[in-house]
Amino acid sequence: MTQKINRIGVLTSGGDAPGMNAVVRAIVRKATAQGVSVLGIRRGYSGLIGGDIIELTSRGVDGVLPRGGTMLYTARCEEMLSDTGQEKAVQTCRHMGIEGLAVIGGDGSFRGALALARRGLATVGVPATIDNDIVCTDYTIGFDTACNTAVDAIDKLRDTMQSHERCSVVEVMGRDAGHLALHVGVAVGATCILLPEKEVDFHKVVIEPIRMGRLSGRHHHMLIVAEGHGKGAQAVAERVEAETGIEARVTILGHIQRGGTPSAMDRVLGTQMGCHAAGLLIAGERSRLVIKQDGCVMSCDMEEGLAQRKCLDQDLFAAAVAVAT
Ligand code: ATP
Repeated sequence: MTQKINRIGVLTSGGDAPGMNAVVRAIVRKATAQGVSVLGIRRGYSGLIGGDIIELTSRGVDGVLPRGGTMLYTARCEEMLSDTGQEKAVQTCRHMGIEGLAVIGGDGSFRGALALARRGLATVGVPATIDNDIVCTDYTIGFDTACNTAVDAIDKLRDTMQSHERCSVVEVMGRDAGHLALHVGVAVGATCILLPEKEVDFHKVVIEPIRMGRLSGRHHHMLIVAEGHGKGAQAVAERVEAETGIEARVTILGHIQRGGTPSAMDRVLGTQMGCHAAGLLIAGERSRLVIKQDGCVMSCDMEEGLAQRKCLDQDLFAAAVAVAT
């Protein structure tokens, strides 16, 4: 029989993502209902190393479900990369009586969690990043909201660009992954989508469709460029202007994609994953990653889950190409 867990901790780390609060709320509600107290560690691993910790209660997470960002704040923490930093983090947990830790964030945050697990602390990761770049899970919390935010902004942009008969070049976030850009590009009916994962013949994929479109009476073109794409949105716009004579304007959506109230899907996913994470920690599980696969919330070994890089959805990419021509 496993020993009863009395106290767990939760932190949010890396880039914030809409829906993180739903996870915190679910962990607190599920754990406290089972007599397990929950400590909130503020500012990610910095707070863990420095002891920036608050008690979380069921009442204390009232009203956080519709709020974007993270109530626990987040940070990137250099010190956590070192042995000394990791040891300090484990010492804080021992000192505060934290027997299991839920880490809400992206793959970098899970590497930190893995390092703590190797030092004997039970850790469970909950994937929350707008990049959707965690290989073992179909969705990460925040991805759906970020898609909707970007689509909403681009729809507005299209109205004005269309009136002026300009070409829009929109940079979408995602670091070195193109999942967000691909989904957004399909959702807005982009003329073309430039992704870090796909080498393309620029002339064939960008210039030709614009020229052909113009000949057939199209007066506006929407190009989506992923943040991690080699050329960058500005260079793309300059080349389009030089080779087609059409005025091209760059819009970098930037951090607006991280904000806003979480979509229903992210609230639901955050709640499901948070409950699952609390359940795993209470059951004494160590080094697990909560995931969603084929419609089900489950978990996998954290190290295995981080081992590979997520491939682009090839079917979706094929559909994007098919409808763009
Ligand atoms: P996002 O994808 O949204 O940026 P992320 O979790 O991948 O989120 P990172 O900046 O990569 O964001 O990582 C967050 C924090 O996790 C880092 O600042 C650092 O404190 C910790 N971390 C990252 N990699 C490691 C590692 N290899 N070992 C220990 N800790 C790490």
